[in-house]
Amino acid sequence: MSDAGILTGVAVAVVGEQIAAVGPQEELERAYHGADRIDCQGRLLTPGLVDSHTHAIFGKPRFEEQELRASGLDYMEIARRGGGIHASVRDLRGRPEDELFALAVSRLRRLAASGVTTVEVKSGYGLTPEDELKSLRVVRRLGEHLPLRFVPTWLGAHEIPREYRDLPQGRSEYVRLLVSTMLPGVASEGLAEFADVFCEPGVFTIDETRTILTAARSAGLGLKLHADELRPSGGAELAAQIGATSADHLAAISESGIRVLAESNTVATLLPGTMLFLGKEKQAPARALIDAGAAVALATDFNPGTSPTTNFPLIMTLGVSQLRLSVAETFVAATVNGAAALSLADRVGQVAPGFSADLALFEAADARELPYWYGDQRCAGTWVRGHVCHPYLGEAH
Ligand SMILES: [Zn+2]
Repeated sequence: MSDAGILTGVAVAVVGEQIAAVGPQEELERAYHGADRIDCQGRLLTPGLVDSHTHAIFGKPRFEEQELRASGLDYMEIARRGGGIHASVRDLRGRPEDELFALAVSRLRRLAASGVTTVEVKSGYGLTPEDELKSLRVVRRLGEHLPLRFVPTWLGAHEIPREYRDLPQGRSEYVRLLVSTMLPGVASEGLAEFADVFCEPGVFTIDETRTILTAARSAGLGLKLHADELRPSGGAELAAQIGATSADHLAAISESGIRVLAESNTVATLLPGTMLFLGKEKQAPARALIDAGAAVALATDFNPGTSPTTNFPLIMTLGVSQLRLSVAETFVAATVNGAAALSLADRVGQVAPGFSADLALFEAADARELPYWYGDQRCAGTWVRGHVCHPYLGEAH
């Protein structure tokens, strides 16, 4: 991760949807004489940024909780007053698919405008078979209407919904609903590439998570976990053991969790924006993970409760200032390793021959400027599969 392979004075040749060559400008201009030419004017061209963890399908934002948190109310008290994830669930269940689609389009255009070309989008605010399918159908429509590259993830196991929490056997009944009804529905419509579980004390236990993800793997889905966000509960260890593609959050990962992740192929996806927005002083031990040999990715965790940002370069700033990554490590985390967290590492996340022409151009002369101008929007344009993604001037649907 310490070598991002940054080159200067080079050009990139794109043929069809793929990168054909990267090399000295004069050489490529001779080799591809007559090709359409885009002058990047010495600015920074990177692989399109890969946001491998978002909860972008939601209705109303939850800005009223921010002040409550600042005044000292904890998560439980906010939930008791009707806030938190259950508020997003109530709200999403009441909205038609078209409305959710329109809201997501404008939010994802902002994310695209920050330099993102691939975005993972989770369901998880429906928590009924019908509302989870509705959310994932919105993701499918987004993929048909926006030029971004989408990766849909089913997160029916985001929380135990209220109506099950109040029943004596509610937990096991909801897990049964997930495995026997929701998952087959999602799989038969081909609506998700990954399944994710919120594995945390008080939400889904290690055993419940294993049950759900084992069933998801049998249904042909890749596996992800929200793991060790608040307390070290063995989530990272489980992720490595069952061969999950990524383990996400990890602010409270244990020493043994760091060790087993480093020895596995599971990507450690860190979400520093969430901790910043919640006002926590703690961050995931990124340095220890990288130094142990783990592959670390960065993502926005874009969601209405704990990380309402669509600014991916800001997350890269936090990668340096909060997680103590080098700039090179931050770029690798935002591109190559983000792609690996979505099983796309053979196609996406590198400016190299054979890779998809997913590119981002920034108003910067030096790669170090991107995390430096923090909170700034410097993206001048992006391409996905060789086609312009941002500024997107296609027909509005
Ligand atoms: Zn999340």
